[in-house]
Amino acid sequence: MDFQLSEEQSARRDRILRQVAEAFPPGHSPGSTREDWRTMGGLGLLGTCLPAEYGGGGLGALDTALVIEAFGRACTDTGLVFAASAHQFACCVPVAAHGSDVVRKSRLPELASGAAVAGNAMTEPESGSDVSRLRVTARQVPGGWVLNGTKSFVSNGPVCDLLVTYATSDPDLGHLGQTAFLVDATAPGVRRGEPLDKMGLWSCRAGSVAFEDCFVPDEQVLGEPGTGAAVFQASMGWERACLFAGYIGLLDRLVERCTRFARERRQSGRAIGSFQAVSHRIVDMKLRLESARLLLYRACAEMDLGGRAVLPVALAKLAVSEAAVTSALDAVRVFGGRGYLADDGIEAMLRDSVPTVLFSGTSDMQKEIAARELGL
Ligand SMILES: Cc1cc2nc3c(=O)[nH]c(=O)nc-3n(C[C@H](O)[C@H](O)[C@H](O)COP(=O)(O)OP(=O)(O)OC[C@H]3O[C@@H](n4cnc5c(N)ncnc54)[C@H](O)[C@@H]3O)c2cc1C
Repeated sequence: MDFQLSEEQSARRDRILRQVAEAFPPGHSPGSTREDWRTMGGLGLLGTCLPAEYGGGGLGALDTALVIEAFGRACTDTGLVFAASAHQFACCVPVAAHGSDVVRKSRLPELASGAAVAGNAMTEPESGSDVSRLRVTARQVPGGWVLNGTKSFVSNGPVCDLLVTYATSDPDLGHLGQTAFLVDATAPGVRRGEPLDKMGLWSCRAGSVAFEDCFVPDEQVLGEPGTGAAVFQASMGWERACLFAGYIGLLDRLVERCTRFARERRQSGRAIGSFQAVSHRIVDMKLRLESARLLLYRACAEMDLGGRAVLPVALAKLAVSEAAVTSALDAVRVFGGRGYLADDGIEAMLRDSVPTVLFSGTSDMQKEIAARELGL
């Protein structure tokens, strides 16, 4: 067991930290423009784990997580980090793993470079935690499938070029009757809703997507018909591990900001960091960061060894997301009144952390998965 980063890993992390800080300095106007997507693509932040032959970085899960952690550490626009990671892990990963040769060759290079943006459309108004009962249907027709129904909460949905979506293709077979599709977002029969008014992650536009007799050709089926649930779960494994590495970067930033502030801010003639109530709070934040980081690296290492990694991934996702919410709230306490002001960026970290306990499967669902893995 080696806890040191290799020279190659350290050099890659330092490069990402430097380049991201230059490209997206604090105060960078939020919004994830097309230029932002191309910049992220150029820095290798969109295709980190995709095969090199399609313009990706060809990295494994642990090395990918280290890159995304550095992205989240250096970029104060967490919505941008989230948008890029949802694109890569929930969309590019299933296209790379299950797309036909034609689809992989034509789509992955543009997805890795940022020329095309993707959104993952699984959640429906009536199917959130329970994705075994999808109301969006796929009917087989000559040469392809016709989709009908509505998806909700599609991150990047209002701005994307491609959608990875899932539909019931055989209602008698439950989750074995679901099929995954890659859909052109501008195809006839795709109607995208207005961006949702969210608490945080403002640079990531999210909205509903309705399919109205939308034809999808056979070559845009991902995997075999009936394997949609497995395609989705595999992509969630990557998202729960590597997207959440961005939040390890955020947790690291919180500890650094709070430590610096507690040394500088003085009350009653002393630095507030000399009050045990404050210093212990920051130690708790550091403890959450380091334990969540170890769980996440361990989950990624198991993915790289080819294991199922279901339990370590669920535990890592749970630890990172709960740590992010608790520590961001602790940071507001450490900063006092200015922690509540938009100027210092602390309140944004809290707003951007709250949805981590919801997306990619809620914390309750991670505990359900973990309990099942323990045989309970
Ligand atoms: C910022 C953001 C971005 C998102 N991006 C996407 C995206 O890109 N694509 C996409 O498809 N979806 C996305 N989602 C949707 C997200 O995946 C769902 O919100 C999530 O799966 C929970 O579903 P729900 O909101 O319907 O809540 P529900 O499933 O209705 O859950 C409500 C509550 O009940 C609990 N609960 C439900 N079932 C169980 C159970 N079996 N055991 C224990 N507790 C349970 C939940 O934990 C939760 O506390 C996003 C959500 C957010 C907030």
